[in-house]
Amino acid sequence: MLSAGTERVVVTDLDGSLLDESYCWTEAGPALTRLRDVGVPLVLNSSKTFAEMRILAEELDLRSPLVAENGGVLAVPIGEGVMEPDQSQLQSDGYRILVNGLSREAIVTCAHELRAKENYRFAGFADWSCEEIAERTGLSEPMAQCARSRFATEPIVWEDTERRRAAFESALSEHQIRILSGGRFLHLMGPDDKADGMAAALEHLRVRRPDLDRVVIAVGDSANDLGMLEAADIAVVIPHPEGPRIQPDAPRVVYAEFPSSKGWNAALLTILSECT
Ligand SMILES: [Mg+2]
Repeated sequence: MLSAGTERVVVTDLDGSLLDESYCWTEAGPALTRLRDVGVPLVLNSSKTFAEMRILAEELDLRSPLVAENGGVLAVPIGEGVMEPDQSQLQSDGYRILVNGLSREAIVTCAHELRAKENYRFAGFADWSCEEIAERTGLSEPMAQCARSRFATEPIVWEDTERRRAAFESALSEHQIRILSGGRFLHLMGPDDKADGMAAALEHLRVRRPDLDRVVIAVGDSANDLGMLEAADIAVVIPHPEGPRIQPDAPRVVYAEFPSSKGWNAALLTILSECT
């Protein structure tokens, strides 16, 4: 049983975790309703952009912070926070936007300077129109606009040799920029990851209610989620239909029985039933 001074918080990855292969959360409906009924904050933590995540947060009627772009962005609903105004100059669609680590502008400037100097062959979102991004990603143009609206990361397509890619990566690392491979794009990003993003969101919740202790339940399905899962009190691992299962080292690890939203639903309902 949880004591009266303890709040549970769920922090979740989206693709392959809360969302199924059709980007749908319907099968997680019962657990989402239960979370809302018992007042457990749900923090979405994804490589998606704030613009993409805000639409989902609205659908789910969430008023919790959002962590976007792999931990690079913390977005806090205006009116819900104690965030000092000088911490964030950016505001968008009812949220304050705080960039952790490096801004996309700094990352793009550095990458483009290296490209001009060394003649590296690559192109990225900053080079493309919305139409071109839609073509390359298969997204509709409005969704391509959401994917293009970024604060902390830059997806590129590498069109040069592997040897020169390694040299580019090494030059970027001198500026604290790292490269994460993800499907068809390489993502240029600052040093922060999803664990840092989760820490920023939890700090926001702590400042809002410093009187409460927190039990953090993190949910994820891939290597990119490991740091976040290992920083939680309860790590929920969602299985892939294929491929190896991640094995986080957390105080308690729960392996969901089913993939994506179906597994998310069952695991969360079980955990919530234990102490309510
Ligand atoms: Mg995932």
